[in-house]
Amino acid sequence: MPLIDRDPLLLTPGPLTTSLRTKQAMLHDWGSWDAAFNRMTGQLCRQLLDIVHGAPSHVCVPLQGSGTFAVEAALGTLVPRSGKVLVPDNGAYCARILHILQVLDRAVVHLPFAEGQAMDAAAIGAALQADPAITHVALVHCETGTGIVNPLQEIAAVVAAQGRALIVDAMSSFGALPIDVRATPFEALIAASGKCLEGVPGMGFVLARREALQASAGQCHSLALDLHAQWQYMEKTTQWRFTPPTHVVAALVEALQQYQAEGGQPARGARYAANRERLVQGLQALGLRPLLDAALQSPIIVTFHAPAHPQWSFPAFYEGVRQRGFILYPGKLTQVETFRVGCIGAITPEDVDQVVHAIGATLRQLGLLPGACAA
Ligand SMILES: *Cc1c(COP(=O)(O)O)cnc(C)c1O
Repeated sequence: MPLIDRDPLLLTPGPLTTSLRTKQAMLHDWGSWDAAFNRMTGQLCRQLLDIVHGAPSHVCVPLQGSGTFAVEAALGTLVPRSGKVLVPDNGAYCARILHILQVLDRAVVHLPFAEGQAMDAAAIGAALQADPAITHVALVHCETGTGIVNPLQEIAAVVAAQGRALIVDAMSSFGALPIDVRATPFEALIAASGKCLEGVPGMGFVLARREALQASAGQCHSLALDLHAQWQYMEKTTQWRFTPPTHVVAALVEALQQYQAEGGQPARGARYAANRERLVQGLQALGLRPLLDAALQSPIIVTFHAPAHPQWSFPAFYEGVRQRGFILYPGKLTQVETFRVGCIGAITPEDVDQVVHAIGATLRQLGLLPGACAA
């Protein structure tokens, strides 16, 4: 029996804890042909574009499915079969882009960086210079596998200067970290409903440069993931091409109203940063060490070293914290034992204090405190 009689708070990078208002927005049914629902979709797409000031140059194409579906759709639609993609890699979601491109049989150039090291714009520029056949660069803005944030604006400038196209997986940063397409030129940027916008999971969206999308007709390997076809159908009919995730759309519309009321990206980013400060300070006081240098650490998710103790077991730790009302995330690193705590979702620094308390109590219960945590 859990000790706390409420839904556990999700300290995870999606799905995440949503507000009551957002959950209540789903207590209706909508028809996919209904004009009221299709107006919601149109309004939603305009608002998503406005977050990056993209309306003059870009279009928003929503897509059913989890975020990876939208990444695969963007790569499959926008990279021609004769294209070649440079993939800078400092973590698990970069590796997923590589995997998608391999499945799609597109030529790739892998540019690895150490886990825990930010991508280097100059190294990306050098790789582009060395290989004029590269048409696209595909990268992850905030690498959720570790929590590292990559220097997107610098990289975008280098890619633009070399005349190549940039495709950005901004899944875990969109809405929380500043991105302005006028200063950070991109061909396409991909995000999803259930991350920093604090909607529920179920749809991704791609903000694509209008001319690039126009030029991509017939290029996609897939029927259902063809962004050009999805876009054209929506332009003609205002409807989704296949059954829309109606409740997800309604929840995201409501979540965006709260996003604007909170103060948009600056306020959302500031709340997450405050969550991160409380978390890092609180867990450091228990003897736990974050993986990354503070300068590289995003306000999205923090990776901590597991206690270097023979009694450490992530499943036991997870269960103890869950019983106290919070859900954590396992590590995703290949080399060191870690666990991750998300800072995003409808949670405040006061909630994070409770998480720290629950983690301390669990470590004590497992015999890992006091003093057992120092690695
Ligand atoms: C969440 C996330 C995705 C998408 O993952 P899904 O499980 O398909 O939703 C992709 N990239 C990054 C960086 C993410 O954080």
